[in-house]
Formats: sequence, C-alpha cells, structure tokens
Amino acid sequence: MTDYPQLLSPLDLGFTTLKNRVVMGSMHTGLEDRAKNTDKLAAYFAERARGGVGLIVTGGYAPNRTGWLLPFGAKLTNRWEARRHRKITAAVHAEGGKIALQILHAGRYSYQPFSVSASSIKAPINPFRPRRLTGRGVRWQIRNFVRCARLAKKAGYDGVEIMGGEGYFINQFLSERTNKRRDEWGGSPENRRRLAVEIVRRTREAVGRNFIIVYRLSMADLVEGGQTWNEIVALAKEVEEAGATIINTDIGWHESRVPTIVTSVPRAAFADITGKLEKHVNIPVAAANRINMPEVAEEILTRGDAQLIAMARPMLADPDWVRKAAAGSADEINTCIACNQACLDHAFGNKHVSCLLNPRAGRETELVLLPTRRSKGLAVVGAGPAGLAAALNLAQRGHAVTLYEAGPEIGGQFGIAKRIPGKEEFAETIRYYTRQLELAGVDVRLNTRVEAADLIGSFDEVVLATGVTPRVPNIPGIEHPSVLTYPEVVRDGKPVGKTVAVIGAGGIGVDVSEFLTTENSPTLDLKEWKQEWGVTEPDAAPGALTTPVPEKSPREVYLLQRKKGRIGAGLAKTTGWVHRAALKAKGVHELSGVNYERIDDAGLHITFGENHEKPRTLAVDTVVICAGQESVRDLVDELTVAGVVTHVIGGADVAAELDAKRAIEQGTRLAARL
Ligand code: FAD
Ligand code: NAP
Ligand code: SF4
Repeated sequence: MTDYPQLLSPLDLGFTTLKNRVVMGSMHTGLEDRAKNTDKLAAYFAERARGGVGLIVTGGYAPNRTGWLLPFGAKLTNRWEARRHRKITAAVHAEGGKIALQILHAGRYSYQPFSVSASSIKAPINPFRPRRLTGRGVRWQIRNFVRCARLAKKAGYDGVEIMGGEGYFINQFLSERTNKRRDEWGGSPENRRRLAVEIVRRTREAVGRNFIIVYRLSMADLVEGGQTWNEIVALAKEVEEAGATIINTDIGWHESRVPTIVTSVPRAAFADITGKLEKHVNIPVAAANRINMPEVAEEILTRGDAQLIAMARPMLADPDWVRKAAAGSADEINTCIACNQACLDHAFGNKHVSCLLNPRAGRETELVLLPTRRSKGLAVVGAGPAGLAAALNLAQRGHAVTLYEAGPEIGGQFGIAKRIPGKEEFAETIRYYTRQLELAGVDVRLNTRVEAADLIGSFDEVVLATGVTPRVPNIPGIEHPSVLTYPEVVRDGKPVGKTVAVIGAGGIGVDVSEFLTTENSPTLDLKEWKQEWGVTEPDAAPGALTTPVPEKSPREVYLLQRKKGRIGAGLAKTTGWVHRAALKAKGVHELSGVNYERIDDAGLHITFGENHEKPRTLAVDTVVICAGQESVRDLVDELTVAGVVTHVIGGADVAAELDAKRAIEQGTRLAARL
C-alpha cells in the first residue's frame, strides 16, 4: 500500500515500460559541454537512476553548430561524440534506469554570431541576430535532428526528447511572432508546424518503432504573438501521428515576462492547461513546472491531467526523491525551493549547475561524504543553513553531534525568509532538516544560547555557525521609535505604519518591500497569481496573455539605496526581473543615490547629490533597516585561546555576499573533511 499509487505505477509504452511516472526533466548542467566531464555526468545520472526515477532526460545537445546554446557547447553530431555517451547510458542502465537524450537547437537563442532561425528577427534576450534559413537550410536542419537521434540510439539511449518549446528553434517556426516566412515553412499554421512534424516523422522513420521519442511542446508561449490554442492542439495531434511516444509539456518562452518556475509561482500552476491538452491526444502527456512534492504529483495524475510528471530541479535537490516517496517517507525529501540560485542562475551564468540545498549535485565524484573511521564528539553552534548542513552531514558520517540553537526553532535566517510572500517553500527546508536531524540522531538543543565555557573541554572540536545579525547604520536618530530592523518586522510581527521607508535595497530590502506591500500571498492562490501576472485561459488569447491586475498594496513604500543606478541590479539573473516587476506592480517608490541625514518625528530626511544639495523628507510612519549584515563571532576568540579546534562557517565566517548557497556548501564541505 502506498500513498502515491498513480505516481508509482508503471507506464507501458508498448515496446518498453517505465517503472513509474516520474521523468527527470532536462537540465543543462554544463558538464555536457566538455568530453572530460563525461565520467562526472555519468555519476550524476547514475545517482538519480539509483534513486528510482522512471525516465531521465539529459541536458540539451545541439544537432549541429548552428544550434549551440553557447559557442563550443554540447552537441551530438558524429560517432566519436556518440561513443563517449556509452559511459552515461551504461551507468544509468546498470542502476536499472532509462535515459533519453535531449536534442536542443537554440535557434535565435544561440549565443553566437552564426545562429539561424525561421526569420531574421533578434531575440530581446540575445545580442546576436539570427540568419534566416533558406528552404534548403531548413531541410539540412531536419537531417541533422535525425542524425542526432540516430547517434543517440547508437550510444545506448532509450530515446530522445525533441525540444519544441521554450522559444527555441522549433518553437520559433511554430509562432507567427518569429516566423514571417511565406514559403512551405511559414505563413499558415500548417506550414509553421511542418518543421516540428517533419522532425518527429523523419526521426521515427530513422530510429524504428522501439525507441522513445518525447516531443517537448509549448502549451502556452506567454509572449505577444504566441501560438493560439487551436494551433497548439493541432500540433499535439500531428506530433502524435508522426510517431511521438510521449508529449512533455512546458510553458513560456525564455523572453516571456511571466514567471513560470520561480518560487513565487504556485505549485503545479499550469497543470490545468496540461489537462486541457491531454484530452486531445492518445499518447501519454507529462505535466511540468513547479511540481516538487509527491502529493502534488499524485493529485495531477489522479485528476487525469497527465500520465507522467516531469521534474528537473527536484531531482537535483534530492536524487532519492522517488525512493523516499515509495518508502512513504516524503517528509525526508529535500524539497526544491525553486530559488534557481545554483541551477538556472549557474546555467545562464555559464557555470556548472548544482543545487543550493544539495551542493553534491553535479559534483558526485568530488564532494564525497564517506563514513568516518574515527567518530568524534562535535558541537555545532547555530542552526541556520550552515550549521544544519554541517550537523546533518557530520552525523550521517558517524560523528556524535550536538547542535545548539539560541532560538526556539531551527532554520536561522530561513525562518525569516519563509515568511516573505512567495517564499513559503523555504519552510520545506526547515521541515527537511528537522526530520533528518532526528533520523541521524543529532542532539538538538533549542532555546540554548551557548557560551565558550559550555563548550571548552566537552567536545573534540567545535563548528561555529552563529551566522549574522542585521547591521544598524550610523544615522542620527536611528534609535527613534519609528525604526525597526527586518527581523522585528518579518519575524516578530512588530506593527508597521501605512507609509514606510526601507533602508537598503539588497535581496532582503526587496523581500521586505514585497512583504510590506502584499496582503495575501499570490503563491497560495493560483487565480490571484494569474491575475497579477496577466495569464489567461490558453484558448482565450494567443500566447495565453491578458492585462495584469496586481493586488493593491496596503502601504506606500519607499525603497532606498545609497549607490546610484537601478534598484535590484545585483539580484540574480533568473529571479531578479520577477522581483523588480513585482515591486513596480505594487507602486514601490525606488530611490537610488540617496544620503541618509537623520530620522525624527517628521520622518526620514535624505539628500541627493555629491554635496547633499537636494534635500527631501519622506514623511513615513516607519523606517525598516535592511542595510546588510555583520558576522556573529563572539565565541571565536575565547575558544581559540582555550585551544579548542574551532571551525567557522557561513555568515559567522564572512557576512559579505553571504547567501544560503554559500552557507550550505561551506557546511557540507567542512563535514566531508572532518
Ligand atoms: P544564520 O541563518 O544567521 O543562522 C545562525 C544561527 O545561529 C541563528 O539561528 C542564531 O540564532 C544561532 N546562534 C547565534 N549565536 C548563537 C549561540 N551563541 N548559541 C546558539 N545559537 C546561536 N539566502 C538565499 O540564498 N536565498 C534567498 O532567497 C534568501 N532570502 C532571504 C530572505 C530573507 C528575508 C532573509 C532574512 C534572508 C534570506 N537569505 C536568502 C539569506 C540566508 O537566509 C542567509 O544567508 C543564511 O541563513 C545564512 O546562514 P548561516 O547559517 O550562516 O546563519
Ligand atoms: P546586501 O545584498 O548586501 O544589501 C545590503 C543593502 O544595504 C545594500 O542595498 C546596501 O546598499 C545597503 N547598505 C549597506 N551598508 C549600509 C549602511 N551602512 N547604511 C545604509 N545602507 C547600507 O544584503 P542583504 O539584502 O542583507 O542580503 C543578504 C544576503 O541574503 C544577500 O547576499 C543575498 O544574496 C541573500 N538574499 C538573497 C535573496 C534572493 O532572492 N536570492 C533574497 C534575500 C537575501 P547601499 O550601500 O547602496 O546603500
Ligand atoms: Fe531547486 Fe534552488 Fe536547488 Fe535549483 S538551486 S534545484 S531551484 S533548490
């Protein structure tokens, strides 16, 4: 008896059977791009196959150089390249898994001067203008897709996924927005579909019947001039007829201004659209996007909205996701919080992909946590992300760990982050650690602020993960009763007036501004979220877009920084634009290049200009301080003088540019060493 009967039931594809309904969706890790990383890639996939995933899809491989995502990126164009893939397929098969290679032609998203597309129209997110393909050029591209699939089969893959969504090459032919052709590949919807259908048809002819072809279909483009619903349904049917085994869905082009996967998008936000599409085809359809827990997946399958669930990031965060679900231990899952910080931000920053929560992802061969040969008695002080990662990994390696936390719960600053509207997922990390610390036998002492004397002589070594405390800037009047720090506002719920100035516009200042301007978290209400971002029913408008209607802010907020330039410029690539758009929608006043003069009963006095020549008073009820952090290191000196072997990690080590990614990685790396 299982809690997830649909999710864990096999899927018979006629010529082969998937052992369950979980597909590890494609995520380009960067390891694909270099032959020397093949062993690492094999280990990465093997770990996920061992964890029980039904079908793995690799990161994208271009069918030729014009389709590269980046210059010298991953491609599969000849048998020498195919040969090294054997290591990957063998490793996955040895673990009882199945794996398909994704064929990804970037089209006008290719970051190089030799890119090609349906028409010569530059993408707003790429400086390179693509060359318009001739009819002969289009046919050559089709042959290259087919060659790539044939090579994948030779390399031992169980199938291929043909990437037809996200605004890439095939999607560029499908949509009038990017296809202005008047030949057989453009104009009418039938002509625009021809490339996609021909690729599937010719691939099927080339690979035979017993090979999985997944077609990745954009079920709403979320851009002006995107495909209509009728066109999308017709495409799904034709792709089925042409020989696809499975339709995997996605939503939104990379240039879309509607967020589709960040943490503030409600869970399973687009599964209803998958359900609408599913009714029109007879092959299995996979739902994707913001599905991260087994109960969410089970509900989608039970409703009949899909037959498969595709998840990419959750498999980075926890390779044992399926095994834990099958064991009835969903509370042990390290749930992807959709932060993008170590996965998509790395991918778009041309760095190897990993996971904020699981720094071993993509580094399975180098960050190894073996059982210790000499168990020690260790104290970890501070149960923020750094201390939690250290304590858990140390205990799992066989050390005797006592974890001290001054506060009433574990989580450190994550306990504040989880209260920000749209960051509710952060609570899952606290749940995960609570359960895992229990399983690993860590002695957790809450409400215990330790001092050096409590530690000296009691432990073999001490890990200090005492984190950070908000910086209080030296502004005259900072002690005025209208001034609050961000923990006082967000964690302690101190009353805040109707007009507020936020000092500091880093990640926390932006989060706090969203907290102050949001009454009901849209993440928790799909209808409201869709209204806020202007997403309508797919059959109501091409691209499924309508006019956004954001919720009215309950407060007037001024967000300030001393440096000149755009507020939020330092936010991450894949999420920063979502925060900036949310602030704009809530009418937050953004003021850069300010000098803070004083705070008094009249409000916050600021000046602008090098010589402070332009004064202004913001008549605010409350001033919230979000001016960065300082390390809490009060135990370091005493422990060092007493000769205690002391390791300092996370914010306690360095407060500047601290985030949970660094804190968890530092904790994990230390635990691997001790
Ligand atoms: P902390 O989280 O500060 O934890 C330190 C812990 O040590 C605390 O619980 C404290 O009570 C305890 N402690 C201190 N002294 C003692 C003592 N003597 N005895 C016992 N216990 C002690 N980061 C991201 O990467 N992504 C985000 O999206 C993100 N969003 C955020 C949103 C907000 C609103 C906030 C406030 C932070 C956010 N962060 C985010 C930052 C992230 O939470 C921090 O970088 C991270 O928590 C730092 O981890 P740490 O373990 O070093 O320190
Ligand atoms: P931060 O990004 O370093 O921002 C601190 C802000 O305070 C800056 O705007 C800075 O701007 C201002 N400041 C610094 N010293 C000041 C002073 N003495 N007086 C007045 N203003 C001062 O730090 P944070 O916002 O506290 O965030 C901490 C970390 O958490 C960040 O590194 C971030 O990565 C992480 N975080 C991430 C996210 C996310 O979405 N990924 C969200 C929240 C937090 P000026 O100097 O120009 O005034
Ligand atoms: Fe999920 Fe964040 Fe990890 Fe990416 S980095 S897999 S979004 S938790």
